[in-house]
Amino acid sequence: MSDLAVPRLEKLTSQPEVEKLLKGLLAQGSVQSYIWAGPEGTGKKTHALAMVRTLFCQEGPDCPGCAVCKQVLSKSHPDLFWVERAEGKNEISVDDILALNRKLSNAPLSAPCKVAIVPEGDRINESAQNVFLKTLEEPPANTIIILIASKTSKFLPTVLSRCRLVRFAALPASTVQSILVQTHGWSPADAQAAAEEANGNLTLALKAGDSSWTDFRKKVCEDMDRALQGKDPEWLKLVSEYDQWEPDFLGDEELTATQRKSQVHQAILQVYLNLWSRRLMGQTPVPAGLSGLPPEQVLRCLQKHQDMIPAYLGTRMIMDHLFLELREGLKTGQIDERSFIELAVQV
Ligand SMILES: [Zn+2]
Repeated sequence: MSDLAVPRLEKLTSQPEVEKLLKGLLAQGSVQSYIWAGPEGTGKKTHALAMVRTLFCQEGPDCPGCAVCKQVLSKSHPDLFWVERAEGKNEISVDDILALNRKLSNAPLSAPCKVAIVPEGDRINESAQNVFLKTLEEPPANTIIILIASKTSKFLPTVLSRCRLVRFAALPASTVQSILVQTHGWSPADAQAAAEEANGNLTLALKAGDSSWTDFRKKVCEDMDRALQGKDPEWLKLVSEYDQWEPDFLGDEELTATQRKSQVHQAILQVYLNLWSRRLMGQTPVPAGLSGLPPEQVLRCLQKHQDMIPAYLGTRMIMDHLFLELREGLKTGQIDERSFIELAVQV
């Protein structure tokens, strides 16, 4: 086991298909542009950093964490370009991609190759994708580009056709459990409980060990259930409280107010979605006051709103819309399944 948070690629086992493919490609030394797609919490960023360790580190598969590996994981290695949105921006712009194109045109400084990773690849806007085409089609010598995304629908067909698509599958609960036990030293019982609750999302399962996260989860589930059964002013009070919230689990990452709010909203959606999938599977009872809501429809409704988040600036608007739709569903026993766009067109 590695001493560092992310091991080398040789030590990862959660995505056997992906790991086999990547090791094969690395052995051939093929220079490539990739899109890595799959649900949240399935190890896309972990695999990207693990692969860079394997590419850059000269100490072999058992390296416990040399200076190079540490530079990779802190994203400070001069040949690793970790491309994020500019402060306060909702997308990755033409300027960001032009700057990356320039950096990639130089030879690597110390590593055998350069690697560019865009952890939110689905936020590269259309003009920036167009500016990126030539580099993706024919990356400079010794360059690997990895665009990470939960879905491929935000990419232009011209980008998709120039990148090799690598799919990350949702992790089975048993895989999440064994990673928690073997890599993170959890007890099998704790690991099993967290794995089942997280629905194949390792990132979420890991948070089960963090009391600020478990408190948040408990509060959100209670709040949402109560607000749905209560009066509208209660919802307004609740969302303004959430708007101000800075939960500890966000860590000390540098976030703008908008990003923080969006992360809180996303976490709320995920937590409530997980609660309703347990309700659907009969693992947790539905409170009497919410028995009018069909669990499958609630899940689809939550997923629909979760899917909207990357596309819209205002997550608060999405949360309000979600609440209205669920409230209406509780009254009628039927949740509106039309998409946001369809509804907007109708108005
Ligand atoms: Zn190393």
